[in-house]
Amino acid sequence: MKIIVLDGYTENPGDLSWEGLEALGSLTVYDRTPEEKVVERIGDAQAVYTNKTPITAETIHKCPDMKFIGVLATGYNVIDTEAAKEQGIVVSNIPSYGTDAVAQYTMALLLELCHHVDEHSNCVKAGEWSNNQDWCFWKHPLVELAGKNFGVIGFGRIGRRTAEIAQAFGMKVLAFDEYPDKALETEKCRYVSLDRLLAESDVISLHCPLFPSTEGIINKDTIAKMKDGVKILNTSRGPLIVEEDLKEALNSGKVSGAAVDVVSSEPIREDNPLMGAKNMIITPHIAWAPRESRQRLMDIAVDNLRKFVDGKPQNVVNL
Ligand code: NAD
Repeated sequence: MKIIVLDGYTENPGDLSWEGLEALGSLTVYDRTPEEKVVERIGDAQAVYTNKTPITAETIHKCPDMKFIGVLATGYNVIDTEAAKEQGIVVSNIPSYGTDAVAQYTMALLLELCHHVDEHSNCVKAGEWSNNQDWCFWKHPLVELAGKNFGVIGFGRIGRRTAEIAQAFGMKVLAFDEYPDKALETEKCRYVSLDRLLAESDVISLHCPLFPSTEGIINKDTIAKMKDGVKILNTSRGPLIVEEDLKEALNSGKVSGAAVDVVSSEPIREDNPLMGAKNMIITPHIAWAPRESRQRLMDIAVDNLRKFVDGKPQNVVNL
């Protein structure tokens, strides 16, 4: 079997091995593939992996030997799954590989908003402490989390794990989910309406998928319902936030800080409104990327193809 990986670099920049896929066929791995080369590179391959390179209906029609598309990610919006289904192509994704990594990262963003560790360290190295009159100084208000409310929009795998860590910091959790599971409620973790979450949370963290119903869920109207000085975290998907509205709220101080790992268009455009906003942390979509989590992704990606070859496809998203 011929196996092609169209854009393997972010999954494996060199610290992992492709040997699991090599064992299943003749493997060619491309670091990146420009759109105009997708058809040529897939050629007569039967199995194709993509992370963020689009596989369109046109590509599907031009590559009739393709039988399996593996996504090296959870989100599979880069693939025309309907066209794949019509052609009898199985599309498999990796539904859960980075829950702990993304939850940990979300809290790293929150702690950075509360303490500005990096900025304080840089100030010390630049000599500000050596030349300071007092034995300590801080550049921003420092924030204690214990006793504050942590609002989670999308109480799924990552949202729940993030909420567990927030509780370890002494925070109370307010969760909003389209499909609440009341069995998860405890004294310190309650489902609430979206309006109540907006009104009572000190920190709001986004963990719902990007759907038409969630696109722009953070906008000027929902921000107006929030507490003054709220902090906002987004490690889910950029378009959940209307970035121009968040920028205005940051610059006015309504939102005291925000930290996002994802933006509306990636890589970020230089004119993205959040680039110049006050008290804004932006990182380049790395919450998923510790080696441990990428290894798990690799293992599941290999297993997806092995199960497909065995006639028992798993993690199929276009049944
Ligand atoms: P999940 O499916 O376990 O949880 C999503 C939750 O959102 C579910 O409980 C679902 O019921 C809920 N939901 C659906 N529609 C909703 C709505 N309209 N309003 C409120 N809640 C709604 O998914 P997960 O594994 O927790 O992942 C969550 C998101 O994290 C993914 O969709 C993905 O976009 C993002 N993610 C980001 C990274 C990163 O590197 N930054 C990595 C992995 C995943």
